[in-house]
Amino acid sequence: MNGLTDGVRQFQSEVYPAMRERFSELAGGQAPPTLFVTCSDSRVDPSLITQQGPGELFVLRNAGNFVTPYGTDGGVDSAVEYAVAVLKVERVVVCGHAGCGAVGGALAPDKLDAVPAVQKWVGHARAAVDATAHLAGDERLPAAVASNVGHQIENLRGHPCVAAALEAGSLELVGWVYDIASGGVDAVDSGGGVA
Ligand code: ZN
Repeated sequence: MNGLTDGVRQFQSEVYPAMRERFSELAGGQAPPTLFVTCSDSRVDPSLITQQGPGELFVLRNAGNFVTPYGTDGGVDSAVEYAVAVLKVERVVVCGHAGCGAVGGALAPDKLDAVPAVQKWVGHARAAVDATAHLAGDERLPAAVASNVGHQIENLRGHPCVAAALEAGSLELVGWVYDIASGGVDAVDSGGGVA
């Protein structure tokens, strides 16, 4: 806990004073241009890897960076709806990452018997599991991670507010895979291929 409280003290004494004006603006409201959907994995730091500051990313995180089909999960539905219909973000980024445990779990669900909630949740990567069934060994997880990003972007298109914003030309959908070891960010097309 000391690391956290020391961090808060450092934020208050060193970081906040230098950004006082920006935080004062943000106290009145937010207008982020981006909804950033990514994994809960502690190694993925959205603000750090995009160099965006407070007020610039509206973040939806869950294990596996899933955008569940509309009507499946109220938490996902409401975050997407609020970002797109109320905040009117200009883009949605779905950012998967190398070595994703959630996607890896979906590839081997029999190993998740002790964590049934996880076992059920990673089922949202089923389409990526099926799409990579022809691969084996070390090739499969990276391909499934990219495929999963593509499928989550397809799921996004099924959310009514997203469909409306796409129709109006006011929203773009972006897929990325972040490589923790190299810092690389690869674009992924909606089919799950690395562009
Ligand atoms: Zn992950």
